[in-house]
Amino acid sequence: MATDILTAPTIVGTATRTRVYKNFIDGEWVEASTGETFEDRNPADTREVVGIFQKSAKADVDAAVDAAKRAFSKWRLVPAPRRAEIVYRAAEMLIERKEEYSRDMTREMGKILKETRGDVQEAIDTAYYMAGEGRRMFGPTTPSELPNKFAMAVRQPLGVCGLITPWNFPMAIPSWKLLPAIICGNTCVIKPAQDTPLSTFNFVRTLTDAGVPRGVINIVTGFGGRVGSPMTEHPDIRAISLTGSTDVGRTVGTTAAKTFKHCSLELGGKNPMIVLDDANLDLAIEGGLWGGFGTTGQRCTATSRIIVQKGVYSEFVERYVERAKTLRVGNGLDETIEMGPAINAGQLQTDLGYVEIGRSEGAKLKCGGNRLDKGDYQHGFFMEPTVFIDVDPKMRIAQEEIFGPVVSIIACENLEHAIEIANNIQYGLSSSLYTRDVNKAFAAMRDLQAGITYVNAPTIGAEVHLPFGGVKATGNGHREGGIGAIDFYTEWKSVYVDYSDRLQKAQIDRPE
Ligand code: NAD
Repeated sequence: MATDILTAPTIVGTATRTRVYKNFIDGEWVEASTGETFEDRNPADTREVVGIFQKSAKADVDAAVDAAKRAFSKWRLVPAPRRAEIVYRAAEMLIERKEEYSRDMTREMGKILKETRGDVQEAIDTAYYMAGEGRRMFGPTTPSELPNKFAMAVRQPLGVCGLITPWNFPMAIPSWKLLPAIICGNTCVIKPAQDTPLSTFNFVRTLTDAGVPRGVINIVTGFGGRVGSPMTEHPDIRAISLTGSTDVGRTVGTTAAKTFKHCSLELGGKNPMIVLDDANLDLAIEGGLWGGFGTTGQRCTATSRIIVQKGVYSEFVERYVERAKTLRVGNGLDETIEMGPAINAGQLQTDLGYVEIGRSEGAKLKCGGNRLDKGDYQHGFFMEPTVFIDVDPKMRIAQEEIFGPVVSIIACENLEHAIEIANNIQYGLSSSLYTRDVNKAFAAMRDLQAGITYVNAPTIGAEVHLPFGGVKATGNGHREGGIGAIDFYTEWKSVYVDYSDRLQKAQIDRPE
């Protein structure tokens, strides 16, 4: 029963009771086959253990896939509008639970409350949108080339889907995968990121409370190699959807191809924001701060490169840096805080490592660059908002995804030069342009190599009913959000009904 989570065994520590979360397989809460667990700690204060989770292995994946296979035989036959009603109910329940889940998310992930509320809201928006899809899922009906023959194409579910998620949007990203998958009649095994499993539990618990039957959604927690790999290899998983780094995407994509799975890869980014001489600078500065330091720079769409035209370069740099210095860093549960910690010690080390790389490459460190570890900061993974200026577009800090609060500012001559710099990179997720010139805006919309382009807004802030994803090393051509998700989680079947009562041969029986 889903509500068993409330009575799951607890460990009594010295100061707090820490809840132990089991895997969720076939509607039951079960321990991992390994007998091992791991801790989910608060990155703003690592003394707090947010939860204890199962360190699972292949046997747990196998059990979850078996459960999902059994559930598929019934779930695929539930009419899609009925499936949608459950998802709609879950959206209503999420609204009631939004504050509780946002606080849990800030505790396990570190981003500020305003943003975790946005993360839960994105799951709510996706639920409403996908509930609507349950009454659409349109397919074409089309005239046959032969008389007395009917032709149409219908969407069919794939079977068991394996979903592997990152830690930076711990409820929104699971919702982008789980909701279209189940609306289409599939069943799922989800492996949340090891840093943020609790938000997936909160989400799946709500779906279960809303009426998703046992076995339709199964959670197996643990690490990439021991859980993600067996999912990717499993012959009975028919689709893999991964959001994560480009390196992991390459491995997952290669392995999934061996068993001919549908495979959706949403990977890294190094997103450019172009500021032209005619831009509204106030707007560009605020947008660049939000895009660069929102979520501590830990968004795949983070504004990590700002390409500024020479006429406004000095003024932009001066004002941007002054504002970056004033950003309030701290525990995201405090409503006055503007930027939280890095997710873990490894990510903080990576961020600080790139500060050294930037310095050694000759970029000018204009602000930040240091770990914050005194006073209230001492138990968390905090770092100053960091800005490099006069960055050469070929430098590593301008080419590699850092995934932290480190922004590189690059000078450019004009729009053509800016687009050349923006495109000269392996990634292609988001992009943006600040200008008042509509001709330049349309040229950039056409020429920027990216899955998303914003005009007069920063590179972050996707809406759920539009396609989301990138080009080049950011993905493999699929899109989440909107109708693209329905395309990924279904397969087309063409159906012909011949009511002529005689054998008719396509392409052959035709009047001369
Ligand atoms: P990650 O690649 O380290 O991990 C992502 C998930 O893959 C985790 O659940 C992890 O356990 C699992 N994993 C790791 N190795 C695996 C393997 N060999 N086989 C199967 N699964 C494996 O990424 P992360 O650190 O969790 O997230 C940050 C990355 O995600 C960044 O690169 C960011 O750009 C990217 N991201 C992309 C998008 C997008 O939509 N394009 C959105 C958010 C994050």
